[in-house]
Amino acid sequence: LDEDPSFWKDHNVQVLIRIRPLSNIEKVSQGYGRCLKQESGHTLLWLGHPETRFTFDHVSCETISQEKLFKVAGLPMVENCISGYNSCMFAYGQTGSGKTYTMMGEINQAECKLSADCGITPRIFEYLFSRIRMEEESRRDEKLRFSCKCSFLEIYNEQITDLLEPSSTNLQLREDLNKGVYVENLTEYNVRTVNDVIKLLQQGAANRKMAATYMNSESSRSHSVFTCVIESWWEKDSMNHFRFARLNLVDLAGSERQKSSGAEGDRLKEAANINKSLSTLGLVIMSLVDLAHGKHKHVPYRDSRLTFLLQDSLGGNSKTTIIANVSPSTCSAHETLSTLKFAQRAK
Ligand code: ADP
Ligand code: MG
Repeated sequence: LDEDPSFWKDHNVQVLIRIRPLSNIEKVSQGYGRCLKQESGHTLLWLGHPETRFTFDHVSCETISQEKLFKVAGLPMVENCISGYNSCMFAYGQTGSGKTYTMMGEINQAECKLSADCGITPRIFEYLFSRIRMEEESRRDEKLRFSCKCSFLEIYNEQITDLLEPSSTNLQLREDLNKGVYVENLTEYNVRTVNDVIKLLQQGAANRKMAATYMNSESSRSHSVFTCVIESWWEKDSMNHFRFARLNLVDLAGSERQKSSGAEGDRLKEAANINKSLSTLGLVIMSLVDLAHGKHKHVPYRDSRLTFLLQDSLGGNSKTTIIANVSPSTCSAHETLSTLKFAQRAK
């Protein structure tokens, strides 16, 4: 898998497939049976009937380290934001496929070095802060300064909850000519170090779990969105300059089809909402890819809270990365195929 500084090239949407290692349970129950064979850094074979070959921007092997994955997919996002463009990263896949491991991994207060299992989000911030220091240092004469503000929310059943202030539920989306789309009354924290970010991630993860228990659901049925607004100011030619970019890191609800059979009332509505928000995300990304190919299309941002919230960070000059997480086990052959198909449509 290549580290490629021109990650997005001519395309603003990149799709990366991450195959996780077989779990012990899968090894025991399926005797190491696999439904996938990686062929190269771009192609893989799905070994069911009929055998199907898929091609993506990137296909990572089962043993790719968290650090390497960051270098391939995370680092270009930081560079993009430093340049003043919005970025979105989505982890897509069935429950248990490795979305949270990819986005968060194991997060502990970093003494000086992040642990090997630490996910892409803390790594992104470690790199972001080092790049900010570099930029500020090299452009001292312009008095360049950066500021980073983070928020962390959850969308469950089309309702928005502040994960850093969990008593704030059912927050509303607003649209403003200057600010664009924003969440009313969402708390934001200034962050300066990786430890500041890790504290927010831990707090949010704990609240996500608690809210799920309280609502008698599972965190696998909600989307979590960690957002950082990166602002910078500098002086040049006796003028003040200002720039800002939004970085969105999204751990999506499990992509397994939520069955409506047997479900009633709230459960039925919940299943319909999850299916709808993931399919709307797929449609929005497909429309953007079509737009990039010169085809005119309506982009259905407003059909789900998630896509409406991220409207300003999807499309235009923004960059989008989808990490589609899959299990290689034959037990998950069906769900793995459906994730590969979703990822394929995003191209
Ligand atoms: P999801 O968030 O998609 O439901 P998780 O990230 O919780 O899935 O992963 C399920 C389990 O598999 C966890 O125990 C996680 O630590 C493990 N896991 C996932 N991906 C990997 C990987 N690439 N390497 C090692 N363990 C992984
Ligand atoms: Mg998860």
